[in-house]
Amino acid sequence: MWWVWQVGFRVSENRQGGADLHAHTSSSDGVLTPGEMVLAAVEAELQAVAITDHDTLAGIGAARAEAQQQPIDLVAGIEISVRLRNLEIHLLGLFIDESCSQLRQLSLSSRRARRERAERMVERARSLRLDLSMQHIVQVAGSATIGRPHVAAAMVAAGIVPSPEIAFRRYLGTGRPLAVPRELIGAPEAIGIIHRAGGIAVVAHPGSSRVRATLLEELSAAGLDAIEVRHPRHGRQREQLLLEQCRRLGLLPSGGSDFHGPGRGTAKLGEYRVPMDWYQPLCRQAQERKAQAVAKE
Ligand code: AMP
Ligand code: ZN
Ligand code: FE
Ligand code: FE
Repeated sequence: MWWVWQVGFRVSENRQGGADLHAHTSSSDGVLTPGEMVLAAVEAELQAVAITDHDTLAGIGAARAEAQQQPIDLVAGIEISVRLRNLEIHLLGLFIDESCSQLRQLSLSSRRARRERAERMVERARSLRLDLSMQHIVQVAGSATIGRPHVAAAMVAAGIVPSPEIAFRRYLGTGRPLAVPRELIGAPEAIGIIHRAGGIAVVAHPGSSRVRATLLEELSAAGLDAIEVRHPRHGRQREQLLLEQCRRLGLLPSGGSDFHGPGRGTAKLGEYRVPMDWYQPLCRQAQERKAQAVAKE
């Protein structure tokens, strides 16, 4: 990846152009439909946007169809919850081929595991004498993969808590009574599947997941391609530290807003965009991964 050092890691403040490589649609716990997300990205004057729903590929087809009508690149992505030692961390697969059978299998089994976790959350809620049912949750989630934000919204709808924030604080946040663990795929295995789908593996928000330097080394040894350096949960200082880790480990920098919809979460779409001289090396790395995936077939 010698060319990275030639383009350098300039931190630019572009409001126009650039790429936002982390966004959630209504296929997982976001608000906008995939088509609306593409239009919002055009409105934000992005040159590229990645759709990275939690553990599902369901939104990519519709996003692609809309992007074909628009002056924007659509990066097909997924955010996979994985296990690294005893931690849950998130990996982004970017530039993936959503028809890859192993990746589809992974998303189907995660979908099932998320549903089963929601069922156990309901059982626990009942044991706490809270009036929460699967119907409440399914009403909120529709066909999306069920995440804790859906459960939080269902708890508000059922009158258990006044707001989603309070649902997380009292019940759903880490260490709280309804924070039920679910089975997670190991990080190296997930990286392998992303590569087989012709994509690149990016560790998401390592700052907020407390992924320390030794764990970055472990991920790097397993074939990680990039670090999500720019993210709403990372301050400037964290960004600089992560850029140093990129240099040290020979990884590329990536970034995005982790946008969940207007008024949701901390960032607007495009707010944490990365410049094209971060985006283009990621594209080239994906081309290499695709060539390797084809060679292995
Ligand atoms: P899940 O993947 O189902 O475990 O849910 C994780 C999602 O819940 C994250 O992507 C966030 O959007 C949201 N989330 C996690 N912790 C909190 C919190 N303390 N307050 C609000 N939302 C949260
Ligand atoms: Zn989310
Ligand atoms: Fe995440
Ligand atoms: Fe995310």
